[in-house]
Amino acid sequence: MAEQMKRIVLAARPQGEPKLTDFRLETSDIPDVPAGGILVKVLWQSLDPYMRGRMDESKSYAAAVPIGGTMEGGCVGEVVASDNPKFAPGDVVEGRFGWCTHAAVDGAGIRKIDPSIAPIQTAIGVLGMPGITAYVGLLDHGRPKDGETLVVAAATGAVGSLVGQLGKIKGMRVVGVAGGPEKCAFAVDELGFDACIDHYAAADGDAMREALAAECPDGIDVYFENVAGKTLQGVIPLMNVWGRIPVCGMISQYNMSGFGMAGGDGPDMLPKLWRTILVQRLSVRGFIITDHYDRFPAFLDEVSGYIRDGRVKYRESITEGIENAPQAFIDMLKGGNFGKTLIKTA
Ligand code: NDP
Repeated sequence: MAEQMKRIVLAARPQGEPKLTDFRLETSDIPDVPAGGILVKVLWQSLDPYMRGRMDESKSYAAAVPIGGTMEGGCVGEVVASDNPKFAPGDVVEGRFGWCTHAAVDGAGIRKIDPSIAPIQTAIGVLGMPGITAYVGLLDHGRPKDGETLVVAAATGAVGSLVGQLGKIKGMRVVGVAGGPEKCAFAVDELGFDACIDHYAAADGDAMREALAAECPDGIDVYFENVAGKTLQGVIPLMNVWGRIPVCGMISQYNMSGFGMAGGDGPDMLPKLWRTILVQRLSVRGFIITDHYDRFPAFLDEVSGYIRDGRVKYRESITEGIENAPQAFIDMLKGGNFGKTLIKTA
C-alpha cells in the first residue's frame, strides 16, 4: 500500500489531565502539492506545554483547536514537492504544520533552516520558539545584572535550561528548581547552575521558601516564572527590592479545571503577592513570545554562537512515531520529559 499521511486530532476537550481518548489518530492519502505552495514531509514535531491551553475553550491569547481538528504545533520537515519559487525539494523548513506526518501549505510563515548551524531539530528547540522565549524573557524582561540571583523552575526543560545558562553567562548566581535528584544533578553538573532544588522534596510553599532561602543568601533579584504553585509561593517572600519577574508560564496549573477562569486551588496568594509587588517595587511582566519575533535574528546569532563554543548545552527527550505523541505529551505535562520534548516523525 502507498505511504499514507497520519495526523493526531483532538477528539475531546480534556477535563483536567489529558487522556489518550482525548486524541485520535487518523490516516488519509498524502495530499498533492497545492498551487503556489509546497508539500512537506515532517521529520520532527515539537511538543510544548502551551498545547494544553489550545485544548480548552476558555479565553486565551489564541483560539482553541476545534474538536476533530489537527493538534497544533511547530515542526521541522523536508520539502518533497514545490510549486513555490521560494522553496525547492530537499529544503529543510520550520513551520506550524501540526501533529502530522505531511503538510500541504502555501509557504507563508515558513522558515528555511540552515542545517550547517546545528542539528535541524534545534529549530524547534534551543534555536527555535523555546530558545527565543528564554532569551527575550530573561534578557529583555528579566534585565539580568552581574552578581544578581536568578531562580528558574522547570530548570532542565526546553526554556528553563537556556534561561539558567544565559543567567550564568551574564554573571548571575543561578538556582534552578526541578523534579527529582537526577534532573537537579544535571542542572548543576552539566548546565553549570550554582544549585538546584528538588520540588518533590518540598512539601509546600513554606518548605520551598526555606530551601530557596538556603541557596539564595542575598535574596532573589529575578524569578523566571514557568510553573507557579508552591515554587511561586516560596519565591515571593524572598524577592529583593527592584526585583523582576518575567511571567512565562504556570505549568503546575495547566491541568486544573477552570484554569483561565478561576486559576486552580491552593491558598489565596493575591493579597500577599500584591503587597510584595508594592513594597519591593517589583516589575512583573507577562509575555507571549509571538509578540517578540523581531528579536529572532539577534537571538539566533547570539545563542548559536554559545552552542558552537560550548557555553550552552541542550538536552532532548525524543519519542519515535507520531502515534506516540499523545502519551509523550501527557507525560511531559507531569515532568516525564528530560529536556526538549520531540517526536521523531520520520
Ligand atoms: P519543559 O521542557 O520545561 O517541560 C515541562 C516541565 O514542567 C516538566 O518537565 C516539569 O519539569 C515541569 N513541571 C510540570 N509540572 C510541574 C509542577 N507541578 N511543578 C513544577 N514543575 C512542573 O517545557 P518548556 O520549556 O517548553 O516550557 C516551560 C514553561 O514555559 C511552560 O510553563 C510553558 O508554558 C512556558 N512557555 C511560555 C511561552 C510564552 O510565550 N510565554 C513560550 C514557551 C513556553 P520537572 O520534572 O523539573 O518538574
